[in-house]
Amino acid sequence: MDDDTIFAVASGAGQAAIAVMRLSGAGSSAMLAALCGHVPPPRRVSLRRLRDIDHAMVVWLPGPGSYTGEDSAELYLHGGRAVLSAVADALVDLGARPAEPGEFTRRAFINGRMDLTEAEAVHDLIAAETEAQRKQALRQLEGALGALYGGWADRLRLLLAQQEALIDFPDEDLPPEVEAQVQSELAALHREVAAHLDDNRRGERLREGLVFAVAGRPNVGKSSLVNALAQRDVAIVSAIPGTTRDALETRVVLGGVPVTLVDTAGLREAVDEIEAEGVRRAQARAAAADLVIEVVEATKKVGDSSNILPPRPFQLLVANKIDLGGAPPSSAIGVSALTGEGLEKLRIRLADAARSLTESSGSPPLTQARHRAALLEAVARLAGAQTAGLPELRAEDLRLALRALGRITGSVGVEDILDTLFAQFCIGK
Ligand code: GDP
Repeated sequence: MDDDTIFAVASGAGQAAIAVMRLSGAGSSAMLAALCGHVPPPRRVSLRRLRDIDHAMVVWLPGPGSYTGEDSAELYLHGGRAVLSAVADALVDLGARPAEPGEFTRRAFINGRMDLTEAEAVHDLIAAETEAQRKQALRQLEGALGALYGGWADRLRLLLAQQEALIDFPDEDLPPEVEAQVQSELAALHREVAAHLDDNRRGERLREGLVFAVAGRPNVGKSSLVNALAQRDVAIVSAIPGTTRDALETRVVLGGVPVTLVDTAGLREAVDEIEAEGVRRAQARAAAADLVIEVVEATKKVGDSSNILPPRPFQLLVANKIDLGGAPPSSAIGVSALTGEGLEKLRIRLADAARSLTESSGSPPLTQARHRAALLEAVARLAGAQTAGLPELRAEDLRLALRALGRITGSVGVEDILDTLFAQFCIGK
């Protein structure tokens, strides 16, 4: 399969001034020559006539210094359907085949041009919707995460070598401090990996986006508030209590973080089954949310039975309808979804919350469930190694911890996950 020469349109679909066709594999130079007369000088842009199909800018990118590590080429074509399909047909005639999703990046990984965390970051950078997501993906793309995990793996490898020396040579041949060194380095490594895991899921939250649930009794103005925050009409605003039966979702950007606002159905005693289902879903959403925006009416006292709400963690109290008067509790942010009063302050508070839930300082954050699973395995093995009764058992724990770390960067045993991982990519990447 990897001997195939593959091609794909790397720019987006649809008519455009220019479309980029990418080509990679051993046949690239022959195909390029067949298309435009001869192979242009490497890594230089040349204007060429591609048979009777198009005039295009062409770049010849010989391996191993290319993105995929293979001989590659890029064609900057006129971005129309007929041009693209004529070039694709010509390439197929010449022996190339259309690329699978993520196949270029997969080849880059296989050919050692990047580790798996960097390959994943390529996907994340393309998928990034906000500044904060883009920065996190770029940092990972530049190898920050791979270097962190690779550094731990290097230290583990050294530990394992020392441990094996302890096994292979009788005690009296080794300086007594070796055992103590192994013990303290093992404890240090365990601490570092555990601290990295104990991050409140900041990096993962940023990568996936946050969920803020907007909860409160019917008619307090939840839908109106979501609309006001989103500045567009997404939720149905109605004067009849309980009409927002299902959870409605709105994507907004707060503090550089994508946030899904979930407008929950009125959390009150349900009068019918459909409404009961709406309430159940809303409660489930609110329970799983990163933050609950609890909306009450400013005109009612918080202790007032129509304003009482079940307590939840991470909540922000918002007293709506301050335009109608009343004295919102001091713990609440007073707003009016109707007049817009207080909304700027609320937006700032929400952006602060979004940032504090996702911001990480210092070392690069953990960004994926896949990495977390492997790190949990590594940390368990490191803990096991510290309490292992026999030197051989400690060595085995160290080996398994090393293997778990290796699976993150892709240095060991990842064949089984590559299909799933690269299937998420777009074609042409
Ligand atoms: P929900 O059931 O909590 O989603 O409440 P809605 O957003 O549907 O609003 C219920 C009613 O309150 C509607 O008639 C809104 O126009 C009204 N409303 C919402 N926000 C305000 C506000 O800030 N001030 C006033 N005066 N009315 C509001």
